[in-house]
Amino acid sequence: MSLKAFLSRRVVTPHGIDAAGVLVQEGRIVEVVPPNQIPTEISVKDFDEAAILPGLVDSHVHINEPGRTEWEGFRTATRAAAAGGYTLLVDMPLNCLPATTTVAALEAKRSAASGQCQVDWMAWGGVVSVNQVHIEALAAAGVPGFKCFLIHPGIDGFTMVNEAELRAALPHVARTGLPLLVHAELPGPVDAASRRLAQADWSKYATYLQSRPDEAEISAIQLTISLCREYHFRLHIVHLATSQALDMLRAAKTEGLPVSVETCPHYLHLSSDKIPDGQTLFKCAPPIRSRENCEKLWRGLREGVIDLVVTDHSPCPPEMKRLGERNFQTAWGGISSLSLALPVMWTEASGRGFTLAEIAQWMAEGPARLAGCESQKGRIAKGFDADFVVFEPEAEFIATEEHLPYRHRVSPYLGEKLRGVVKATYLRGNCVFADGKFPGEPGGRELRR
Ligand SMILES: [Zn+2]
Repeated sequence: MSLKAFLSRRVVTPHGIDAAGVLVQEGRIVEVVPPNQIPTEISVKDFDEAAILPGLVDSHVHINEPGRTEWEGFRTATRAAAAGGYTLLVDMPLNCLPATTTVAALEAKRSAASGQCQVDWMAWGGVVSVNQVHIEALAAAGVPGFKCFLIHPGIDGFTMVNEAELRAALPHVARTGLPLLVHAELPGPVDAASRRLAQADWSKYATYLQSRPDEAEISAIQLTISLCREYHFRLHIVHLATSQALDMLRAAKTEGLPVSVETCPHYLHLSSDKIPDGQTLFKCAPPIRSRENCEKLWRGLREGVIDLVVTDHSPCPPEMKRLGERNFQTAWGGISSLSLALPVMWTEASGRGFTLAEIAQWMAEGPARLAGCESQKGRIAKGFDADFVVFEPEAEFIATEEHLPYRHRVSPYLGEKLRGVVKATYLRGNCVFADGKFPGEPGGRELRR
């Protein structure tokens, strides 16, 4: 295959944002050179003022296939990913049937994904109450790490783990050297609050927020940090929503514990005061908290206590949001944002003085490192996959259903004015999304660790 070049005045590399030509051959980046050093005889795609960022990596996505393909699926999720500038998704193990808690289930997922994917994918393995013996086998079969819940995950078929079950699993996890991603809420504070609120008005967002107090997150993070110290495994806190845990997490990192932290665009963009009562599209767990809390999460990102930003794209059929009932207790929790996450983040980040270099760290390099593919994905640098998102940072648009190419076009972001437009996405040098279309055959592959 011949050498080609991608040219822009703003190429986002680990060294900064500069005019550059990215030379690509056989799907890999051969070299990043100043524009005047692009060989004259090769084909050049000139994006001019549009920025070229590394293809984004989303290490927290619920694809739901096989088994709940009516909720989402590889085809629709990876198309939404391509439309959002993502070139690699890592699927969570719980919503599919069978859940990804054995090698056989992982193989079923591989068959289901085959030939459907617009971008690359990986699968986390699950740690549940009874699958300790499968943990090391899943690692050998290629998962990049594991996910567990310390509270009921809201879905049957994927059990939460209590402290004793977690302790039984941790020596196996530690032996693999792979990260354990923890949904960090403990049931005690949630159960107590929910009992107090049994007669409350569940159409009010405030009731739902009170039912999942900061304390549930804080106590879970405290427990997992102490287990990290004891068992020497890589701990990753998923979707941090409370800023009150930041000091504890900073201290754990300063101590040298292998702890990493993610949060999501919805915690960085939305706040409880803006959520109308009855609007269950905004329900997720842990919940979206106050405006003040949101600002503190931004400080956590700025200071590097929070390492990365992922979507937690978690769709369901619209009926399960029970929009007619306006009931935050019975509605399914989960916010879908694969195709809008970059503009949502850029809208907030650019207003706070951050650059596209930080966006690339939080949304490409950081998640790639968590998934163990940091030498192949997440950067524009020699030897990496030629995965790019072409982004117009100054353009603005109103989010409509046409911006949601996942299975069910519902979103709490509809109608919002957002900053930054994804013009095109390239996977290994091939265009997989451009101007609302998905050219070519699905060429996404599974990456195995
Ligand atoms: Zn999730």
